[in-house]
Amino acid sequence: MIMVARRYMSSSDIYRRGNKLKLVWKATNLLFRHALFLLEVLLEKAMARLGKGRDGKVYICITVDGDAHGIPNALEKGMPLLFKIFDRNGLSGKVTWFINERYDWTGTYPHLLQQILYRGDRLEVHCHIESLIARDDFVQIYDEIARDRQKIESFSRRYLPNYRISCFRSGSGDRSVKMMQALEELGFSYDSSITPGESFDVYGKMISDKDVPRSRNCYFLRPEEYKVPSNKPTQIVELPVYNALYGTPRLREKEKESDYPIVITNLIHPYNLVKKNGEINKPVKLAYEWVVALLRMIPNSEFVTLLQAGEAWRKSHS
Ligand SMILES: [Zn+2]
Repeated sequence: MIMVARRYMSSSDIYRRGNKLKLVWKATNLLFRHALFLLEVLLEKAMARLGKGRDGKVYICITVDGDAHGIPNALEKGMPLLFKIFDRNGLSGKVTWFINERYDWTGTYPHLLQQILYRGDRLEVHCHIESLIARDDFVQIYDEIARDRQKIESFSRRYLPNYRISCFRSGSGDRSVKMMQALEELGFSYDSSITPGESFDVYGKMISDKDVPRSRNCYFLRPEEYKVPSNKPTQIVELPVYNALYGTPRLREKEKESDYPIVITNLIHPYNLVKKNGEINKPVKLAYEWVVALLRMIPNSEFVTLLQAGEAWRKSHS
């Protein structure tokens, strides 16, 4: 499920396995988490009303990872649905789309990319390094990211001449020091790949972010030891990604850190909204609409692109 489970454990995956019990469990888990979250938001609202709310701003970044993962109509049906949900919530110009060019967006779906730019949203880069034959080879990693950035950037420049891609998100399948070093060499400013406190078992390989505390907000990322938060300014700022609501209930914990802005990074994929038979997944659609509605209730918050949130955070730290 988008909000609750690992990025690779979507509800579509569960449907695929035909495991109804698991789906029921996930749904219950999701409802429970949302109920807790709602309670938290209401409490926060009450606190804010009493004048005891936080001073620092909360930036909410809606991010979409542009993958299809074998789901038919994932992009054809999932994308318009996302546009609709964002429109209904006044989010035009505030959404960050991480494009995985392995799906040939610039060749096959240029109209969707055009629409994203027309809305004033941001196009950024998303790569799955595990799809490389030699995924430990620095040159291959570097080339993969550089090529995708170049494709998306030159597409965008047809409409916005000075367009520059600054943000990156990796798939959870593979991440390494080499990947982070490639990002630094390529001059990326923001990374949003790390999922604090979680680990992923993908194709038998463990990717663990367990050593990054969940309460951690953004930090300067030191590529040579990329999971270790660094207080020393470096080029790349890490804006951790939370699987939708994961980070949100820990707002108060984050608050203790400082008066700096807090960034909540929410994630969805177009394929989450489409079932394996190519039809819209209505329960997931409803759940996601609920997520967006809940995020809108957070006091003292503003929806911005990841780039804007990163810039605001960097500014507060310089
Ligand atoms: Zn992905």
